[in-house]
Formats: sequence, structure tokens, C-alpha cells
Amino acid sequence: MSTKLVVGNWKMNGSLAGNAELLGEVTKSAGLGCEVAVCAPFPYLMQVLQILPPRSGIALGAQNVSEFDDGAYTGEVSARMLSDLGCSYVIVGHSERRSLFHEDDGTVGRKTRAALRAGLLPIVCVGETSAERNDGITLEVVTRQLDAVAAEIDGLDVDQIVLAYEPIWAIGSGLTATAEQVGEVHASIRTWTQRVFGSEVTTKILYGGSVKPGNAAELFAVPNVDGGLIGGASLVARDFLAICHAAAGD
Ligand code: PEP
Repeated sequence: MSTKLVVGNWKMNGSLAGNAELLGEVTKSAGLGCEVAVCAPFPYLMQVLQILPPRSGIALGAQNVSEFDDGAYTGEVSARMLSDLGCSYVIVGHSERRSLFHEDDGTVGRKTRAALRAGLLPIVCVGETSAERNDGITLEVVTRQLDAVAAEIDGLDVDQIVLAYEPIWAIGSGLTATAEQVGEVHASIRTWTQRVFGSEVTTKILYGGSVKPGNAAELFAVPNVDGGLIGGASLVARDFLAICHAAAGD
């Protein structure tokens, strides 16, 4: 069984003082039996990097990246810049970007390509709306989203990709998918990675959607769940650390 990965997605939250306090606590997760990453807003990436002890084992990530290389793209941040700064990860295709900022499957695929070309580890988010789940097309939707990524990354290092199943109805809502629902989608994603990336590639598949200290252990015990993408609970040091402990099997 591979080491689980816990990724905190701070979303558009934080301040210099607040981040320092939160990270002071979160660095206590260093040395746990799980991998940890923190995805901070762009203006705070350098601060996070400076606070994280060099051998803390906690990696830095961004929450978005441009699909374009450097150039005349005002307001965009390129994958090369994130890599240059010291980011390891970048979240791509989060449902909030898909729904609020009109990122379609093609954009998510091109952003994944940009991240891979710059040596970043893209955390590619997929997931269905509640209407799609009610219509019984969850697996179809997730497969379509994954296929769109695969179409853009030919010849690139698929070993670097992390996938995150995030049912949109469970994000920030307090609703969590049941172990059975998570198990079904993760098994389907695993079948997809083995078919498309090859069975020798061990892609990490994270679950995200209202993961909390109280449900983390159950969710992490589901087959093919290799960790979690944590939104709200990553802003509360005690909760985030408890989730890391659950991932480590403590
Ligand atoms: C997320 O933003 O990716 C997420 C899973 O949020 P939350 O944990 O708050 O549902």
C-alpha cells in the first residue's frame, strides 16, 4: 500500500499573520507516516516556502496555473514560474474553477499539460454535480473529464499526475460521499488509469469533499483512496493534523 497524500487547499483564504500561525501548527505533521502538501494562494506561496522547514517533508502547491507559457497574458501565472518558485504541486480543474471561472474539460487538459511540461505534479480534479449523480451518469462524467486530460498529455510523464475525485455536491457543503459511493468511483478511476496510463503506473487517487477528522479514517480505508484533498478543514490546524494522523493510520 502506498503512502497516503494529504493536500490542504486553502482556497482564497489567509493573511501573513494567520498563515504563520497555521503553518506553525501544521509543521507538526512533519514526520508523520503520510505525505503532506499545502496549496496556498499565489501571493503567499513564497511566505509558505520560507516558513516550511527545509526537511519538513511538507510540499508547496498552487491552486491554479495558466495553460499558456510565459508571455503577454496579463494576470496569469505560468507553470514555469510556479516551478521556479519551488512549488511541487498545482491543483488543476477544481470544480470552483470549472463552475465559477468557466474552465472546460479542454482547458483543464491544457493546464495539466502545462504543469507536466514544467515538472510540476498536477492534482487534477474530477467529479459530478448532484444532478448528474441523480441522473445516474457519475462514472460517465468522470470518464469524460479524464479522457479530456488524456487527450492533451501525449508523450508527457503521466507518472507525475495525481487525480482527485471531488463530487461537487460534497465540496464545502458538509455532505460527504458514502464509502460505497467513493469506492465505486475510485475503482472506476483506477480501471481508467490502468487502461490509459498502463498498469505499471501507480497514480495516486485522492478523495475530496467535506473530509473532516470524524470521517477521514473511514474514507481513507476505502480501496483505491490514496489520500485526501482537504478544503475547509485545512484552515484549522487541529483538524488538518487529525486528518493527517488518519491518513498515516495512527
Ligand atoms: C476542496 O476545496 O477541494 C474541498 C474538498 O473542500 P471541502 O473539504 O471544504 O469540502
